[in-house]
Amino acid sequence: MTQKLVITNIGLLLSGKMEQPILEADCLIATDGKISAVGREKDMDTEGATTSVDAHGVTLAPGLIDSHVHPVIGDYTPRQQQLHWIDSTLHGGVTTMISAGEVHLPGRPKDVVGLKAMAIASQRWYENFRPSGMKVLAGAPILEKGMVEEDFKELAGAGVKLLGEVGLGSVKDGKTARQMVDWARKYGIQSTIHTGGPSIPGSGLIDADMVLETGTDVIGHINGGHSALPDDQIMCLCESCTAGLEIVHNGNERAALLTLNTARELKQMDRIILGTDGPAGSGVQPLGILRMVAMLSSLGNVPAEIAFCFANGNTSRQRDLDTGLIDVGYAADFVLMDQAQHAPGANILESIQLGNLPGIGMTIIDGVVTSQRSRNTPPAQRLPELLA
Ligand SMILES: [Zn+2]
Repeated sequence: MTQKLVITNIGLLLSGKMEQPILEADCLIATDGKISAVGREKDMDTEGATTSVDAHGVTLAPGLIDSHVHPVIGDYTPRQQQLHWIDSTLHGGVTTMISAGEVHLPGRPKDVVGLKAMAIASQRWYENFRPSGMKVLAGAPILEKGMVEEDFKELAGAGVKLLGEVGLGSVKDGKTARQMVDWARKYGIQSTIHTGGPSIPGSGLIDADMVLETGTDVIGHINGGHSALPDDQIMCLCESCTAGLEIVHNGNERAALLTLNTARELKQMDRIILGTDGPAGSGVQPLGILRMVAMLSSLGNVPAEIAFCFANGNTSRQRDLDTGLIDVGYAADFVLMDQAQHAPGANILESIQLGNLPGIGMTIIDGVVTSQRSRNTPPAQRLPELLA
């Protein structure tokens, strides 16, 4: 039977598109988990809904995307011995997570056969099991010395679509890394790199020269994770290539603002994407992506509707995803939210531009309601209602 989701009375509809961040629409319909119509309710066919949501005037945006996480297995992370961190993140409005490497697995294999097996297994177990509904794109092998072209071909053929952060394994020179990233790209595997100082004992420094020589698709945590590169190197990275500029919660906030300001001067804010880099030494951040949106909007002087694009639409486009934008055919992955109770500002956008988090009232993934009032955000003024 066809599943039809109808959401009415949307007060504000954010698109994820920097060129038109706010849509003139109050109603959205999804059929079998994909957006099928967006517009004014009076003009739309809302009959025959299998699920109806009355938004009661709240804001709807594409579900947020965390471009940089380190999952291991299920909804458990050994990094801080924490359960249900993914469920908590869903309550922070994130509906898709992208692995930058399953590096926190105790005893992680570093031989080539072992690392390939682990990447393929990780891809499978998150494809087969979505914690609380969360889409976790995982299976991101860490480059180790001795990998050859055939390994990348084999990984791609087995369904691996991502590399873990270059530099976390034994490949630490630009020439070798470049060769492997080129092989990965040849077979359709996206790449990212650990930018900046060592994150934890055992990892190393990766400076701007190595980032540029390696040529990954995304400059992973350009604001450090935690230690950022010197300012001139960050500006050089923004100016010298066209790769994604990934800003993370577990990085240096000043360097994040420097990246934002440099990208704005270059008129390339569409390169900015957001991640948490959790779980990590600083824990997990269920509200990390929302906090980055509020931080960059308020301290970086970016309209909130644009800052949200960093957290969904830009990532969708940079990483070629079928989620993160409001457009017919995209996955029906949404976050519904409103101005937090007693937060200053005339409306939700102004409130965020003043540095406040919104209150989340619902998440939807593939057209299915996955959570209702968030247990983690400040309470919203108004809540959407699941009618049937
Ligand atoms: Zn890193």
